[in-house]
Amino acid sequence: MTAEIIDGKNFAAGLRARVATLARSFAEATGRAPGLAVVLVGEDPASQVYVRAKHKATTEAGMESFEHRLPADTGEEALLDLVRALNADDAVDGILVQLPLPSHIDENAVIAAIDPGKDVDGFHPINAGRLAAGLDGFVPCTPLGCLMLLRDRLGDLSGLDAVVIGRSNIVGKPMAQLLLQQSCTVTIAHSRTRDLPDVVRRADIVVAAVGRPEMVKGGWLKPGAAVIDVGINRVAAGEGKTRLVGDVDFAEAVEVAGAITPVPGGVGPMTIAVLLRNTLVAAHRHAGLALTPDAL
Ligand code: NAD
Repeated sequence: MTAEIIDGKNFAAGLRARVATLARSFAEATGRAPGLAVVLVGEDPASQVYVRAKHKATTEAGMESFEHRLPADTGEEALLDLVRALNADDAVDGILVQLPLPSHIDENAVIAAIDPGKDVDGFHPINAGRLAAGLDGFVPCTPLGCLMLLRDRLGDLSGLDAVVIGRSNIVGKPMAQLLLQQSCTVTIAHSRTRDLPDVVRRADIVVAAVGRPEMVKGGWLKPGAAVIDVGINRVAAGEGKTRLVGDVDFAEAVEVAGAITPVPGGVGPMTIAVLLRNTLVAAHRHAGLALTPDAL
């Protein structure tokens, strides 16, 4: 069997186009564009790439992008002051503080300072709690993007066996909550899981969010499984060059799975598209306007 390739790039482009249309209607109705503030502390190269990409996507979607670049030695109190100012700023609908922060700053304190109604990353404990309780709130962008791809491919997920590998607050845990909401039977595997191949073999849906290049082998998969590869790992490709690979051994898995996301071009493009979607939702709530979730 050769798996269907799940084209996240194409799906994300469609979502971004729908968001852009609705952002235009929002601007016509309110006289202002939805606004996203992105805060970057320090010069981490990967973070700089992400922040640039977010800025470009935000403006392309017809939204206002407010960038705040702070030096690496910025103190925690100064960062908290900025977050409070953004909470109070009516032009700002969404706030994203790019992680990781320098080690002298307590990330949890900064996340907790963001107004939960502007927490478009969905990392605030109130939003994590709302997700766990099955209430409406902001859901982290990467797992929500994975769910959209799965729903698009499989439709109703009810009763399917899902294995999420990884238990981070950013990907693994919210992914498991979302799949549970879809009535999947969910297993969360992690670094202490015994006999991971055996756990993965029962899954109709496998979501790999580990950060270990090509760890999940084709022979671990149930034939026909849907495989969502969240991992982004840069590995040597000879002659001093590098290439990106996921957490799944794609060449092996594509022969066994029913559907699989490639790396790059799978989950990656979904993260920013969902960030724009969450910002649009935040803007509508902020302005007291209705937004039909089906429109997205
Ligand atoms: P993390 O380091 O916070 O968590 C990794 C998880 O993997 C941990 O819960 C750990 O228990 C588990 N793990 C580690 N070794 C394991 C092993 N041998 N067997 C089973 N589980 C193991 O990472 P994260 O932030 O959740 O990110 C995971 C991966 O996803 C990374 O490659 C990251 O770059 C990528 N990522 C991609 C996007 C995207 O937009 N596509 C977004 C976020 C993260």
